[in-house]
Order: sequence, then structure tokens, then C-alpha cells
Amino acid sequence: MSESFVERIKQQEEGLRRFDPRPFSEILKERAMPKPLWAQRPMTDSGSVLEEQIVKAAAASPADAFCIYIHVPYCRTRCGYCDCYSFPLTPSRLPDLAVYPGLLEKEISWWGRNVPSLREKRLSTIHFGGGTPLMVGTEGLARVVETVQNFFKVKENTELALESTSSDLNEKVLDDLMRLGFTRLHIGVQSLRDPVRRAIGRRESGLQVLRKIRYAVESGWAVSSDIIIGLPQYGEEDIAADVEEMMDAGVEGLSIYELVRSPRNRAFFERHGLLDPDITAMWRQYQYAFWLSENAGCSLKIYNHMAKGRDDNRYFTSPSRGEDLLSFGTIADGYFGEYLYRHAELPEYRSAVEQGYPGFLGGMLRTETESRVACLEREIRGGRPDPEPFIRLLGPEKALTLFQNWIGRGYLRVSADGESTELLPNGSWFIMKMIDDITPTDPRAPG
Ligand code: SF4
Repeated sequence: MSESFVERIKQQEEGLRRFDPRPFSEILKERAMPKPLWAQRPMTDSGSVLEEQIVKAAAASPADAFCIYIHVPYCRTRCGYCDCYSFPLTPSRLPDLAVYPGLLEKEISWWGRNVPSLREKRLSTIHFGGGTPLMVGTEGLARVVETVQNFFKVKENTELALESTSSDLNEKVLDDLMRLGFTRLHIGVQSLRDPVRRAIGRRESGLQVLRKIRYAVESGWAVSSDIIIGLPQYGEEDIAADVEEMMDAGVEGLSIYELVRSPRNRAFFERHGLLDPDITAMWRQYQYAFWLSENAGCSLKIYNHMAKGRDDNRYFTSPSRGEDLLSFGTIADGYFGEYLYRHAELPEYRSAVEQGYPGFLGGMLRTETESRVACLEREIRGGRPDPEPFIRLLGPEKALTLFQNWIGRGYLRVSADGESTELLPNGSWFIMKMIDDITPTDPRAPG
């Protein structure tokens, strides 16, 4: 690691130590990921009440644009480390997969018929995530896009984006997708290092992945990718090589994730002896990945995504642009203004959609206090918190204390012209602490 990186990481460490006398590893363990509201308190609406609320919220929302997110919950096989909601395509699941695009079409039609106000709004992106959306094939994706086109205004500047594993891509698939209008691709790479890839069960070599990235970039795709800090056998030199090779291949965005334990991937942690990781090493690697991407010309797009060029990551950055989110498919979350909703898990989703319903699990309206927290949380997650809403909602004194504290801890820096602030790697690592700092003890309180 070069001296300039060592110095930057040292400064970030000093920022944290200055405010906290505990052992450094204890401080770092307080990292947590932001949680959606439905994971913090029960949703209040269901059935016809929820449907009425959604129609009203969509019509009343001040947003002039919205994004579409579509969840496909299938993968060819299930990766042990993954926490996503997806199912491996065993032979017994193939019949379920075959009906999934039809379920999406039915749900989209429900929205088109019941929420006409959306037809008048600008659609900024149609983003397929999962799972591996390509499990429904390019024909399945084409059917779903066509149904969206039948009901909403898909214009030339509406971006079509999808996430995919590399092993499900080839030149023909990429060309077919581009003909359908897709232009942005996020490839879940995790690492290009072959020992790491073997340890996590990836079938392709790093070289094969790079060849596909290069083909996509040369064909005109905006490509983003990711690395996962904390994977087995993944060290600082590997991270440096990964960032350099991905950027050289033309990747324009890099998501920096940390391996997160959940009931879905616990066995992987046990198998690889990762239950008690070296948190200081992980924090250093996390820092390093951010600084490396910054040196490669990227800047923060949202708290865990560095990007340059054409990668504006529209789905994940939609809250910062004040857009609504229309979602389709099992477990997909959406919102209109202050009204949030979530879809049910697969069996319940399928059964509801087959009967002509949209397959919701529940919905809820933010309280006034939750709305204020959400407004400030958007600022933090967006990576460039503007002090103005903090002053307006918290008062000048509290806002000033917060910003001084965050700058002191190395969560934030002020831009050279003094006009804006930007999250530093410490801020990304401790995003949840920043959100806790703006959350009153009882965010459900009305006032
Ligand atoms: S890492 Fe990607 S391919 Fe593997 S199970 Fe998760 S979503 Fe599927």
C-alpha cells in the first residue's frame, strides 16, 4: 500500500479514536446497515385498504418522476455467502420460473389499470434485480418490458438496467439485451482473484469475467461491478488488483460491500471460519477500496457506490432525486411520497397475483417524525449531506453540533470550495450511527 493511502487511513483512524477511548476494534464493531421502516415497526395496512392508500399516495405524490424496480427471485445455483432473496433453479422449481414473467405481467397490468396517475409521470429507469433476472431469459425480460411500455411512458431517456452474474452473460445475450434497449449492466463480480472465486464457488476465472466486461464496455454498455470485503482469502493486494483491473477494463461504477451474516448465509461463515472476523483488517480494506476507486477517478454516488462517467446508478440514487419507486415482484419494496409498501414472499405473492391482486405484504404511512428522519437519511445515504435541511428540521444549534461531530470523526469532509460536504469511508462504514444521530428515541411520535 502506498504512503498516501497509509496516511489517509491513519487520518480516518485518528478521527475515530479522538472521540472514543475504547479499543479500536470495539469502535469498529458498531457498524450496521440501514434498515427499511418495515423492519423497524409493523406495517399498518393490508388488503383493499392498502390498495386504496397506494392509489391515493401515487396521485398525491409531488414527485414528477418515478423509477421501476422488478425483482426476479431465481439464480442458477445459490451462492453460500449471498443474503439476497433468491432460490436455486432445481428441476422442481423450473415450472415456477416459467410462470414468473406472467405474474409480473399481471401485476404490471393491475398497476396500469388502477393507478392511472403514473401514466402522466416521467419514468427514469426500469431496473431488474434479484436473484439473477436473466433466469427468465431475454424473452422473459422482453415480455415484461413490453408490458411496462403498454402502461407507462417509456421514453428514449428511460434507462433499462439489469444486474447479472457474469456466468449467465455471453456475447449473444449482451447483444440481444442491447437490442431490447438495455444500456446499464451491474455484474456481480465479488472478486477477480481465482483463489477467492474458487472459495466462494464461482465457476468462471477472473480472466473470463474481465473478457466479458471488456466486450460489454466495447459494445456501449455502462458497466458497474462490485467487490465484497471479508470474503475468504481476500487481502489488500487482491483488492488493489481487482479495482485496477476492473477500471482498466472500463468499469464505471464500483459497489463496495462487506460480507454480512444472516440466517441465509450462516453456514458459509461457519464453513470458512468467518464467525469472528478481524474487524480492523476489514475496516482497513473497506477504506482502501474507497481510496483506490477515488484515485481511479470515481466519486461517491451513494454511500457504498463509487462511480464515474455514465454510471449514474439511477435506481439506487432515485431517493436523492426525489423520485417515487414503483416496484413489481416478490419482496420488492416501493414508495409514493411518504407511503411505503412491500410485496409478499414468493408463495403468497404468486397466489395473490394469480387471483388478480398485486401481491402486497403490507403498507404504511410515515409519521411526521419518520418523514423528517427519512428526509435527512436520504441526504446521508446520498453521500453529500446538505446542511440546509438539517438546519431546517433540527435547528441550527443541533445541526452545527452534528456536522462538527461528523467531520471530527472523519465521517464527512467539506469540499475545497466550502460549498458542500461528502461522506468519507468512515461515514460509509458508520452510516447507521449517522442515521441514529438524527433519529429521535421514538420516531413514531407524531410531532
Ligand atoms: S450472489 Fe448473485 S448469483 Fe449468487 S445467489 Fe446471490 S444473487 Fe444469486
